[in-house]
Amino acid sequence: TKYVPNEKRYEKMIYNKIQKSGLRLPAISLGFWHNFGSGTPLELQQEIVRGAFDMGITHFDLANNYGPSYGAAEENFGRIFAEDLAPYRDELIISTKAGYDMWQGPYGDGGSLKYLVASCNQSLKRLGLEYVDIFYSHRRDVETPLEETAYALSKIYHDGKALYVGVSNYSAEDTEEMARLLDDLKTPFVIHQPRYNMLDRSIEAELKPTLAKLGLGGIAFSPLEQGILTDRYLKEIPKDSRAYSNSRFLTEDSVQQHIEKVRKLNEIAKRRGQTMAEMAISWILRDGVITSVLVGASRLSQLEDNVKALENLIFSEEELAEIDEILL
Ligand code: NDP
Repeated sequence: TKYVPNEKRYEKMIYNKIQKSGLRLPAISLGFWHNFGSGTPLELQQEIVRGAFDMGITHFDLANNYGPSYGAAEENFGRIFAEDLAPYRDELIISTKAGYDMWQGPYGDGGSLKYLVASCNQSLKRLGLEYVDIFYSHRRDVETPLEETAYALSKIYHDGKALYVGVSNYSAEDTEEMARLLDDLKTPFVIHQPRYNMLDRSIEAELKPTLAKLGLGGIAFSPLEQGILTDRYLKEIPKDSRAYSNSRFLTEDSVQQHIEKVRKLNEIAKRRGQTMAEMAISWILRDGVITSVLVGASRLSQLEDNVKALENLIFSEEELAEIDEILL
């Protein structure tokens, strides 16, 4: 059936502006790392994407190697885009990245000009797009001079293949240097995509203050620690969960390691009238430094829950202290 977007899609979502840019991102964005590969029925993927846009989620985040197999998430998004979203291209922020392993041989990984430009061209083909809105260097590759990676991002921008550029998983120091280089190259470097959630606060010491200082946007990935910061594992490890599947990145051990803390946090969430997932998301947005929370979802109901986080973004000093006590 032909997709007709919800007319009320812009009524509830919050759009946060990146300080140094005119660009606004939805407070909640949808990531395609999991659940959009070849193992997930396209109908389910389409239901999630349509439902997301209907809730005002205007930002979809991809990478060259999201799958499985590598490239599959971009291809699947390309199909759904062509069928449902093409008329709304100008209402969407679509991002992709290159930096981790993608294809065989010496040019399919890292931060070189060769890899980033070739990968961006491939991504555009798979996505069926003329340009992406944000193109990221997915990681700092220490074997490539930062100047070269900056030049690659700048070339992609100047060739009209991306409107903005960003970095992911970069240290505070490399981010500052990148900002200087891309300023010189007159390239709109507007965003950093770090890992950030209640159980991983490593960016608070240096990167977060740096983002605030530079006016850069921040979009937090794995905000729910891949599902640990939800009610999913409070009792057991359900068979349809990411931890139960053979994920290389989320093991049953990591669930066990954190679950006691999550049970305590869940009590605070209940008091706030939120689910665990909702509180984990509101907490990331608590001080205004993070522009968007980049969630994953294996079904639409999860996304509907996650968006409800925006109904309670205020934390009292007491709540924050209580949370810190559990986490630190
Ligand atoms: P999350 O921490 O949001 O984990 C998503 C998983 O949590 C879902 O698949 C689901 O697990 C579970 N979940 C989500 N919402 C709920 C809910 N309301 N109730 C119960 N369970 C819920 O994020 P991801 O780790 O998936 O990462 C999000 C995005 O971040 C990626 O898609 C990607 O775009 C980006 N990313 C970027 C990286 C980078 O290096 N730049 C690295 C990693 C991610 P289940 O499947 O078990 O149902």
